[in-house]
Amino acid sequence: MGYASGAKDAELARKLLPESNDEDLLMMGPRLHTLEGVVHVKPIKIDIDIRQRHFYGEFLWENSHEASEHLKLFGIHPEPVCWTQIGYASGYTSEIMGRFIAYREVECKAKGDRHCRIIGKPIEDWDDVDEERRHYRPDPMAEQLLALQDVSQPLA
Ligand SMILES: [Zn+2]
Repeated sequence: MGYASGAKDAELARKLLPESNDEDLLMMGPRLHTLEGVVHVKPIKIDIDIRQRHFYGEFLWENSHEASEHLKLFGIHPEPVCWTQIGYASGYTSEIMGRFIAYREVECKAKGDRHCRIIGKPIEDWDDVDEERRHYRPDPMAEQLLALQDVSQPLA
């Protein structure tokens, strides 16, 4: 779900900024995500060249909505929890780059870290590519929930 919403925002950004440079086009994703009230994104390192299909990005997330909700409901967690936001970043950047860019959350506020911190690079560049791909496969449980939601819509 996060991935799809990121990819959709990337299409929008491309329409809004037809003349912009690679970095501005990339940073429109975090801006949209901030406007949507999800998270405030601070870039640490961006190395982007769309024509050469080269990408490396490292960002800090402040006020992660997903981490705050997790902390409120379940407390500290041993692993990072901001999965839909990771999906969004991957969907957005992959759409912009025209290749699969996978992000990982290396620090997370819900884990007790000061901020959430994410790193994104082409999926082939991560050590355990198969494990990484597994995260992006559609979840049958999520699909069942969406189907139930359709059924339970009130009739107009
Ligand atoms: Zn997090």
